[in-house]
Amino acid sequence: MSKNKILIAGNWKMNKTTAEARSLVSEIVAGAGSQTKVDVAVCPPFTALESAAASLKGSSVMLGAQNVYVKDSGAYTGEISASMLKEVGCSCVILGHSERRQYFGESDAFINEKTKVAQAAGLLPIVCVGETLAEREAGKMLEVVSTQTTGALAGVTDAANLVIAYEPVWAIGTGKTATPEMAQEVHAAIRALLVKQFGEAGNKVRILYGGSMNPANASELLDQADIDGGLIGGAALKSASFLELVAIASSKGGCCCCCGK
Ligand code: PEP
Repeated sequence: MSKNKILIAGNWKMNKTTAEARSLVSEIVAGAGSQTKVDVAVCPPFTALESAAASLKGSSVMLGAQNVYVKDSGAYTGEISASMLKEVGCSCVILGHSERRQYFGESDAFINEKTKVAQAAGLLPIVCVGETLAEREAGKMLEVVSTQTTGALAGVTDAANLVIAYEPVWAIGTGKTATPEMAQEVHAAIRALLVKQFGEAGNKVRILYGGSMNPANASELLDQADIDGGLIGGAALKSASFLELVAIASSKGGCCCCCGK
């Protein structure tokens, strides 16, 4: 079976001012803004979305946010709606990142609501799942990831507009990466859940790996059967490393023989 088109998405977290975002995005556009071999997305903080959108105009690089609220407008101080994200130019949104689960108490049920809201608004949700070190050491990683995945996707029927990111919590921002085999084991389990829920369409849902992915380890990770790209934190904050990741992904070949991309 041919692999899915690779997606390299940068999660900037709470980094970059609007001016910094403008210059980072300009460098990314200069290096990868016209290639179509792989999909590329940048996810700046809310305050930098507008300046990033302006710099991305006319390029193939997608703009994403790092969160969305489930209501469309109203008295929800501090929150941002899907229609606001669409208006500013977003086409995707990261949901359920482990930092949001850990620091903001986001549950699978809340992430599920957000996933449906994002899809209904025409935003591509990048739904994050992943186990902690304690959970892995207790041998519970597949159970945890399975609960998170099925919880986040309960009642979701649109497999065509969906991305999952497997991010082992112990590998995020730590420099520790899952070995390609460790990552593939979990990706294969997620794939099985997707196929169970969506049938054949589950094979087309991209499953990204995230957790200290960088130019030194990306190639081997991307060679795994069920790793369809990367959600990149630290290495997305500098154009050189991010563009190197895009180049490595591009070298893996195109999407498939039928579309020629
Ligand atoms: C992330 O936070 O999504 C992430 C993968 O971070 P890092 O690449 O820095 O581990």
